[in-house]
Amino acid sequence: MRIVHVSLGKRSYAIKIAPGLIDRFGRECARLNLGLRCAIITDTNVGKRYAKAVFNSLATAGFSPSLIIVQPGEAAKSVKTVQSCYDQLAVHRLERKSFIVALGGGVVGDLAGFLAATYLRGIAFVQVPTTLLAQVDSSVGGKVGVNLKAGKNLVGAFYQPRLVACDLDTLKTLPDREFRAGLAEVIKYGIIYDARLFAQIERDLPKLLRRDPKMLAGVVARCCEIKGKVVGRDETEGGPRAILNFGHSIGHAIEVVSGYGRFLHGEAIAIGQVAAAKISASVLGLPEREVERITRLFRRAGLPVAVRLRAAQRPKLFAAMRLDKKVSGGEVKFVLARKIGRVEFGHKVPAAVIEQALNLESPAPD
Ligand code: ADP
Ligand code: ZN
Repeated sequence: MRIVHVSLGKRSYAIKIAPGLIDRFGRECARLNLGLRCAIITDTNVGKRYAKAVFNSLATAGFSPSLIIVQPGEAAKSVKTVQSCYDQLAVHRLERKSFIVALGGGVVGDLAGFLAATYLRGIAFVQVPTTLLAQVDSSVGGKVGVNLKAGKNLVGAFYQPRLVACDLDTLKTLPDREFRAGLAEVIKYGIIYDARLFAQIERDLPKLLRRDPKMLAGVVARCCEIKGKVVGRDETEGGPRAILNFGHSIGHAIEVVSGYGRFLHGEAIAIGQVAAAKISASVLGLPEREVERITRLFRRAGLPVAVRLRAAQRPKLFAAMRLDKKVSGGEVKFVLARKIGRVEFGHKVPAAVIEQALNLESPAPD
């Protein structure tokens, strides 16, 4: 088993990474000094595969779990679902010492974490992330929340779990497209922080795509370590944490203008990162061959590296970038790479350079 410690003073916790972890999950929770009552929150897809094993593992360790199942997909991250879950938590009589188990991908993690942060002014929560994206990204860092009609993640909190248990076996049932989308964040850690990780992914991509547990253990652990370190320095964002947004300003804007649903988050940020690499070449002198390595790796991972936008969508893309909540004072600031493994935050980029990187100056397809 690999263990990554996230150091946040009194709120420090461990991320445990291993195959077969769900079977030991109850025993892991037993070390945390929590109450006996708990609620497992999951969605129908994950629930039908793993809820029983998690439930039994908790029950065997002496806990009294109850199960709350939500619909899969982004729609579950709503105030309406929150309301229904609060009512179920109350029916199951969860109390101050009780805890919530988030069993699922990023959607379930964000929702369950938000419930834990707010129910009875906060009860403990434990994450069992079951997508690659959730294991390397959303389960680390303590951002929890739900969406409003006006936008994603507009209501939420910073709230740290007591434990994150990544069972690598759960990735075996993850749909291929979701797995590849998760790789976009994995590759991101190489670009922003760790040239060796990037080179390792280049070398071992076929094994990763086969979901080789040994390979995954090392890579997932390294990503969690990097995110943990970055978050440990800057828990609530504003400074170093911004580097995690490499490729995300453009990526989010692409998600918005192409309508949520066309691209998975990982796919949109793959396009965003390739564009950010091109921008880095013209603003910071990132060598062309590094831009090519980046582009090629995303392509080999089966991710999109470009998007064709209709003429009418182009101004919307820029509007969406300016509206992104990470933008301050109406100015789009970018995280750019000087070389693979080293990025800098806060570069202002002229619109023309962004257009060129996205190939928008070429004739539109309609
Ligand atoms: P993400 O972690 O990428 O934010 P979601 O929480 O929306 O994404 O999960 C993506 C989809 O994959 C959902 O439909 C979810 O039910 C499903 N899913 C999550 N984990 C697994 C798994 N281990 N096996 C099969 N399907 C899964
Ligand atoms: Zn992301």
